[in-house]
Amino acid sequence: MTYEVVVIEGDGIGQEVVPAAVAVLESLDIDFEFATADAGDATKEATGEALPAATYEAAANADATLFGAAGETAADVILPLREAVGSFVNIRPAKAYPGVDAVRPETDVVFLRENTEGVYAGHEDRLSEDLSTLTRVVTSSASRELAEYACEFVADGRGPDHRDGFTVAHKANVMRETDGRFRNEVLSVADEHGVDADEELMDAFATKLPLDPSQYGVVVCPNLAGDVLSDLAAGLVGGLGLLPSANIGHDNALFEPVHGTAPDIAGEGIANPTAAILSAAMLVEYLGHVEAGRRVRDAVESVLSDGPRTGDLGGSATTDEVTAAVVDRL
Ligand code: ATP
Ligand code: MG
Repeated sequence: MTYEVVVIEGDGIGQEVVPAAVAVLESLDIDFEFATADAGDATKEATGEALPAATYEAAANADATLFGAAGETAADVILPLREAVGSFVNIRPAKAYPGVDAVRPETDVVFLRENTEGVYAGHEDRLSEDLSTLTRVVTSSASRELAEYACEFVADGRGPDHRDGFTVAHKANVMRETDGRFRNEVLSVADEHGVDADEELMDAFATKLPLDPSQYGVVVCPNLAGDVLSDLAAGLVGGLGLLPSANIGHDNALFEPVHGTAPDIAGEGIANPTAAILSAAMLVEYLGHVEAGRRVRDAVESVLSDGPRTGDLGGSATTDEVTAAVVDRL
C-alpha cells in the first residue's frame, strides 16, 4: 500500500522543519508518495493567493497532509486546509521529555479540541457604534462526534498511561445552553461507552493544571477553550519547538507543528525539527502504523535526552544534525 502524502512547507522555518520530518518518514519501511504543494505568504506574493485551489484540492484528496507554517496569511491557509480534510478534532499532546527543561516535568496531557464550532464558527456582528456581538455555535452532533473519538482514543490506549478515561473541561455553569449541551453530550457518550469521564470547569482547570498536571491525561474541550488551555500546557513542557498537532477528519487528516514561522531564526538552519518530526509520527500512527509511530517518538525522546540539541533547548546543533541523529537512532 502506497500512501499519498501532500507536503506543504509554507513560510519561514516551515521550509526547514518539514523537510526534516519528510526525511524521517522516508527512513521508515512504509511506502509514501510525497506531493509538494504551495501555500503561505510567499505563495500569495507570487500568485495572488495564499492557498491556491490546487493545494486545497491536493490536501482534500490525499491520504494525509503534512504542513509547516504560514506567516501573515496563516488564517487564510490553515482554516481552509482543516476544512479540506474535514477535520472535527484537533489533537494536541503536551508532554515534557527527560533532559528538557520544563516548568512541570511531570506534564503528559493530550488535548482533544473540538475543531469546527464554538466561537470560531460563530458570526460576529457590529450592531452599532457601541456594540459588537458574537454568536456561539454548539451542536449535539459535533459534540457527540468529538466524544466518540475521545472514547475510541482512550480505549485504544492512546492517552497517557497515568490516567484512565478523560476529563471534559467546560463552563456550563455560565454558558448553560451552549457549554451545557457540549458537556451533557460528551458525558452521555462516555457513559454509553463505559468510559470513565470526569469534568472540570475550565477556569478551575487553568489553575489546577499548572499546580499539578499529573492529575490529568486526556482532556476534551470546546474549540476556544482547547486552543487556550493547550497553549497553557505547552508553556509547562518547555518550548514551542517540541509540540506537534493533528487535525483529524473521517478519511483524511492534516499534521502540523504547533509553532509558527519563527521569523527570528528562519533561514539559518537552526530550527528545532522535533515538533515537525513528532507531527510526522502522528501521521504515521493515523495511517495505522502504530508501531512505526512509536519508534519515531522513542527515537526523538532518545535524542532529546542525550543527543544533539538546537539553540532553543540550549544546544548548538543544526536542524540537519538533530534530524540525522533521529534517523540514526531509528
Ligand atoms: P508566527 O506569526 O508565524 O507564529 P511568531 O513570531 O509568533 O511567528 P513562532 O513560530 O510562533 O513565531 O515562535 C515563537 C518563538 O518561538 C520564536 O522566538 C521562535 O524562534 C521560537 N520557536 C518556534 N518554533 C521553534 C522551533 N521549531 N525551533 C526553535 N525555536 C522555535
Ligand atoms: Mg506565533
